[in-house]
Amino acid sequence: MNIVLFGPPGAGKGTQSALLVEHLKMVQISTGDLFRAAIKNQTDLGKKAKEFMDKGQLVPDAIVIDMVAEALDKNSGSSFILDGFPRTVVQARALLEMLDRKSLKVGKAVFLEVPSDELLARLTSRRVCKDCGATFNLIGMPSKKAGICDNCGGQLIQRDDDKEEVIKTRLKTYEEST
Ligand code: ADP
Repeated sequence: MNIVLFGPPGAGKGTQSALLVEHLKMVQISTGDLFRAAIKNQTDLGKKAKEFMDKGQLVPDAIVIDMVAEALDKNSGSSFILDGFPRTVVQARALLEMLDRKSLKVGKAVFLEVPSDELLARLTSRRVCKDCGATFNLIGMPSKKAGICDNCGGQLIQRDDDKEEVIKTRLKTYEEST
């Protein structure tokens, strides 16, 4: 069964996806992760996406939709979790078309609801591994050794868009567009 995870930034979409991947062997398609990988590899897509991500704005629909279409094409028939897509009505319509073309279905759409003061607290204390992207939280889900990733031993850093000012814009963007 294919799943769509909805919810504001910091709701735990990535954390829940990781559990589903581990326990149910599903494939995670995270638009945020795909963009961060593109930025790391300094591709044209990454450079374009970074302009919007650093400001807490959504990357334009056409760019995101192409990227997801490619990710779905690459997926070799395993059940997938969409984490962070769709976030706009245009993206939702594009997803329906893509699924239709491939004769695929979404079995469940899960909405993770979290109060906004809790989101701000979670996002400011979130730390991610520079190497493998695993997510930790200084308060709720700390790594065993401070600043070091439990999975791969990489360095834990704060995401550029997890600075308080950018977080506020991300939450507003979510309210307005998603
Ligand atoms: P979060 O859900 O915490 O905002 P993500 O890692 O999912 O974090 O997304 C980080 C950023 O990537 C977003 O702020 C946005 O700029 C961009 N992004 C991710 N998914 C989408 C999407 N579906 N549409 C537009 N922009 C997106």
